[in-house]
Amino acid sequence: MVILAIAVPVPLRKTFYYTHTKPLALGVRVEVVFASRALVGVVVDCMDLLADIALEQHGEPSKFKPIGTVLDDVPIFSQSWLSLLHWLANYYQHPIGEVIQTALPNALRKAQSSQPIPISTIALVPSLAALNIQGNDITQTVPFINLKRAQRQFALACYVAAKTQDEDVDGVAKDEIKQHFSTSLINNLIRKEVLIESHQYLRSGCWHDQKGVEHFANISGLPANVEQSIAITGICAQLNQFGCFLIEGITGSGKTEVYLQVINKVLQQRQQVLILVPEIGLTPQTVSRFESRFGIQVGVLHSGLTDKERLTVWHQARLNHIGIVIGTRSAIFTPLPELGMIIIDEEHDDSFKQQDGLRYHARDLAIMLAQKQGIPIVLGTATPVLETLHRAMTGKFQHFKLEQRAGDAAVAPVHLIDICQQPLQFGLAPATLDVMQTHLSQGNQVLLFINRRGYAPAVVCSSCGHVEDCVACDKPMTYHKAQSRMVCHQCLAHVIAPHQCGACGATDLITQGIGTEQLEQGLGELFPQYSTIRIDSDSMRGKHTLSNTIEAINQRQHQILLGTQILAKGHHFSHVTCVVIMDVDGALFSADFRAPEKLAQLITQISGRAGRADKPGETFLQTTQPGHPLLQDLVNNGYGHFARFALHEREQATLPPFTYQVVLRAEDEIPQRAIQLLEFARHLLTNMKNISTLGPMPCLIEKKQTRHRYMLIIQSPYRDLRQKVLDAIIDDYAHYANKSRIRWSIDVDNIDFN
Ligand code: ADP
Ligand code: ZN
Repeated sequence: MVILAIAVPVPLRKTFYYTHTKPLALGVRVEVVFASRALVGVVVDCMDLLADIALEQHGEPSKFKPIGTVLDDVPIFSQSWLSLLHWLANYYQHPIGEVIQTALPNALRKAQSSQPIPISTIALVPSLAALNIQGNDITQTVPFINLKRAQRQFALACYVAAKTQDEDVDGVAKDEIKQHFSTSLINNLIRKEVLIESHQYLRSGCWHDQKGVEHFANISGLPANVEQSIAITGICAQLNQFGCFLIEGITGSGKTEVYLQVINKVLQQRQQVLILVPEIGLTPQTVSRFESRFGIQVGVLHSGLTDKERLTVWHQARLNHIGIVIGTRSAIFTPLPELGMIIIDEEHDDSFKQQDGLRYHARDLAIMLAQKQGIPIVLGTATPVLETLHRAMTGKFQHFKLEQRAGDAAVAPVHLIDICQQPLQFGLAPATLDVMQTHLSQGNQVLLFINRRGYAPAVVCSSCGHVEDCVACDKPMTYHKAQSRMVCHQCLAHVIAPHQCGACGATDLITQGIGTEQLEQGLGELFPQYSTIRIDSDSMRGKHTLSNTIEAINQRQHQILLGTQILAKGHHFSHVTCVVIMDVDGALFSADFRAPEKLAQLITQISGRAGRADKPGETFLQTTQPGHPLLQDLVNNGYGHFARFALHEREQATLPPFTYQVVLRAEDEIPQRAIQLLEFARHLLTNMKNISTLGPMPCLIEKKQTRHRYMLIIQSPYRDLRQKVLDAIIDDYAHYANKSRIRWSIDVDNIDFN
């Protein structure tokens, strides 16, 4: 008999003890009964029941329940991952059971086997496969198919024949065939013994056995320029050891080319590579760039996959059947036994930080993982966050700069357009309309950025001034004209658009402000001779819509592109020569000290979407604050200069990265209750040396879904001290908070104050 310590997915900061008849490997999943519910837990410790220490610690063994089914033969987590998960739980002050749950693919959170799922594959029966049926008279080779009635059957047989011959494989995945032919047709030919179905586990053998490593040695990339060469040589000289590299390279400077060339070296060492990208940046084009360079299958992980698709990539990675995994935040948890390098593209992107549950930052976890594995990690961006830049400038990260645009692009200068006292049409100043007209009449494309979806951010009664607010959030609801709806962008609640004022009943409702929908309509009126395309999360629903639209834009089917954040990520539009940024002044006056940094990143990222050497781009920023020092610095000196100056300011103000913060949040329908809970925390922290607190005060999003939201900011100049202090108070605080039934969270290294 043994005692097992099991991490169970419950919000309690400890593991729970169960017994079993024989020892189990750590990292194995088991079913347990917890508070009369069946849950899936993971073994994190195993003690011989007779060992003194177990008896001493746990007393009478009969008080522990036995576990239920053991779900895995082989541990799901390696020892090093288990210890990393313990680190995560400690660092982010999150219950270990929930941390482990976060790291599991969805499918394995249930009591499901972790055996690889068999894949159904289809091939021609051997007697037919020997013949070349393509182009032959099918009635001779397959006499029982009546040609007149069976064109689809013939097409299917030819499809399978062509696929297996071209790709030199034994069969084609049934799921793939189903995209072109119906299941009944496939089954029909199986019955007629034309096709044969078999169930295979994942393709066996390592990814590098198929082509051999020489294959990678023979791939040549683009001839690197001097800056690229310095980065490539620098990183490649330090493989097989921990090292953090920052590539600070303007958009289009060839960062991806640097990644490709260093990845090649890693693949030649038979090691796997993990690439993390922002949520919106993961397009088929990104993936195909890696696949076509290396000629191997790339595992792709993003939020649009089904649990089954996700699990398949998880298995392939774990069995070393794929050499490269590209994914968004949670792909960091992919098991890669031969991991040789991690790359974080667009490291400044906020989507790497999880904003609920376990509030981890995938970049920071990736750095820990790299350190544990003794491998290099490469961060790339045009606009490093100040935390990263600071580490690079103090020598913790090695720093490479790419300041020239590679290939055929030139950097777009930024100009300010003063919109004070200007007659705006759909939010556009006369000067803006002029430059747009100039670029359009030269046959080029114009990109407009506006950070507001919908038709208008508010609907107001012109009789009494009443604003239609979300009842749960006390914030104006956005009018979406196409759907005749009012939507709360905070809690996503929606109602039918009203015809009458909710307060006085008058019918003269007017909209205030401009959203993408209205701007699209306006551009149609202002520039009727050009085609406008709107790109926001409303217009880009559906799997392939965004990539199809980008394709259409690059083929110049549209001249005016209008959109939100989605436009700021990853895509390069070489026919765009004019970028207009609207309505970002709010960030200049935000209470969040990171707002200027984020604004500077946004402006720089959007400007970077445009231009080629023969068609250099220019960016116009509409503002009511043309004299604002931040804008002046950014316009005249660029992000790099701005960021270095901003770092200096942070140091003066003793803000991160020169100090370390934690935000405790509490939400309740009764504000006083939330405040009280945070006061309790503040009380626990009083008179602690080198720990300061700010608050309790309202979060920047003050009310959401009927709950009032408050925060307490905790700050210390020492990371270790902050950690120690959190360790010391968390149990008391969690106990008190859970008892009071107030919603609360802890956010270590928070990136905002929402
Ligand atoms: P980034 O990732 O920094 O935005 P990319 O790697 O995508 O930049 O490069 C931008 C463009 O320049 C791409 O079309 C790429 O093929 C091209 N490019 C990159 N490096 C070179 C090079 N050394 N020589 C010629 N073209 C290059
Ligand atoms: Zn709401």
